[in-house]
Amino acid sequence: MSDRHGYDLHTHSVHSDGTTTPTEIAVEAASLGLEGFALTDHDTIVGWDEARAAASAAGLDFLPGIEITTRHAGRSRHLLGYGVRAGSPELATALAEVVASRVGRARRMVERLSADYDVTWAEVLGEDETRTVGRPHIADAMVSKGFFASRAQVFDEVLHPASPYYEPTYAIDTVDAIGLVRAAGGVAVQAHPAAKRMKAPVSREELAEYVAAGLWGIELDHPENRPEWVPALASATEELGLVVTGASDYHGAGKVNRLGERRSDASVVEAIRAAVATPR
Ligand code: AMP
Ligand code: FE
Ligand code: FE
Ligand code: ZN
Repeated sequence: MSDRHGYDLHTHSVHSDGTTTPTEIAVEAASLGLEGFALTDHDTIVGWDEARAAASAAGLDFLPGIEITTRHAGRSRHLLGYGVRAGSPELATALAEVVASRVGRARRMVERLSADYDVTWAEVLGEDETRTVGRPHIADAMVSKGFFASRAQVFDEVLHPASPYYEPTYAIDTVDAIGLVRAAGGVAVQAHPAAKRMKAPVSREELAEYVAAGLWGIELDHPENRPEWVPALASATEELGLVVTGASDYHGAGKVNRLGERRSDASVVEAIRAAVATPR
C-alpha cells in the first residue's frame, strides 16, 4: 500500500511560463507524496513526453493536459484540457495561431518597454524558441536586468492590462475551445474561475453556456480563487453538474503557488479518464 495521496492537476514547466523542467516537477511531486500530476503548459503539449517518462521513472501517474488561452465576451478565460489527442489537427492549428500571436504581441510590448527600459527582444525570448512566450518572460528579463525585484512586481507596475505597455493576445473563443478539446477526445475544465486578479468571477450564466458546449469540470479549489466568490460558484457548480477539481497552478519560482498545495482525489482522475474513453 502506498501512502501517496492526490494529484496536482495544474502545473507549468519551462515549456511555457514555469521555471522548472517536466522532470523536475515529477521528482518534486514524488518527494511531496503525490500519486500523480498533470502538466498543463499554456497552449503547448511539447512537455508531455518528458513528463510522462519522468513520472514513470518516479513511480507516478501522469495525466496529459494543456491550459488554453481563451476569451469570451471580451473576458480572458483559461481553459484546461485533459486527455486531448496529441495529433488532433484542428486543435494543433488553433494552438499554433495562439502561440504565433503571442510572439508578435510580446515583441510589440517589449518594443514599447524598450523606450523606457534597457531591455531587448532577444533577452526576453531566451534560448528556447519553442516555449509559449508570455508576459512572465518579459517580467523575468526585466528582473534579471535589475529593474524590478520579482515577476509579481513587474506585473503590478508595467504589465497589467491597464498599462500603456500592455497589449492583449489573440485568444480562442472559450466556447470554440471547449469544442476543440472535446473533438480532440479531451475533457474541458474551467481554470481558476474566481481568480483574485479578475474583476468578477465567472458567472452562473456564463458557466451554463460553457456546460451547453460540453464543459466537464471547474477548478474551484485553486490557491488564487477569491474565497468570497467561491460559495456562489459552488452552488452553480452543483446545479450544472460540473465536477470540482483542485490544483496548485505551480509555476516553479515564477509564482508563490507550491506544488501539491491543492490536490484532486484519484477518483477525479478516474472520472476524467472514463470521460475521455467515452465518445460523446
Ligand atoms: P499572458 O498570457 O502572456 O498575458 O500572461 C499571463 C500569465 O502571467 C498567467 O498565465 C500567469 O501565469 C502569469 N501571471 C499573471 N499575473 C501574475 C503575477 N502577478 N505574478 C506572476 N505571474 C503572473
Ligand atoms: Fe502562467
Ligand atoms: Fe491560468
Ligand atoms: Zn496555469
